[in-house]
Amino acid sequence: MVCTYCGGKTEVRNSRHQKRANQVWRRRHCLSCGATFSTHEQAAYDSVWRVRSKDDSLVPFHEQMLFVELYKACEHRSSALADATALTDTVINQLRKHATHGLLESHQIAITSYEVLARFDTAAAVYYQARHL
Ligand SMILES: [Zn+2]
Repeated sequence: MVCTYCGGKTEVRNSRHQKRANQVWRRRHCLSCGATFSTHEQAAYDSVWRVRSKDDSLVPFHEQMLFVELYKACEHRSSALADATALTDTVINQLRKHATHGLLESHQIAITSYEVLARFDTAAAVYYQARHL
């Protein structure tokens, strides 16, 4: 990966597997300008999971769509952005055990999201439930 500031070559100075989110965190150092920045490597779920909706159609799983729905549910919180980011990781982590051969049912995503929200913030869970369940 090239430097986000100058486009120069970078090297990895530190790396850690984040087990809960199934990501690899890396600290990179630019050999040209000396800047440092972090990267997170994770599976591209839109290439791994398919979602079957109520009308039986199959669409790729888009993590961003899940994030947006969780964000909307948390919008009343001042920490909505960070909350939705962490909640997205938690939901994806739990969906992994339901993704049989890469296939997820859309209602399973909704139920899992609702359950995760219900443990986190009642108002967010109620909002989500009204829209998705
Ligand atoms: Zn640089």
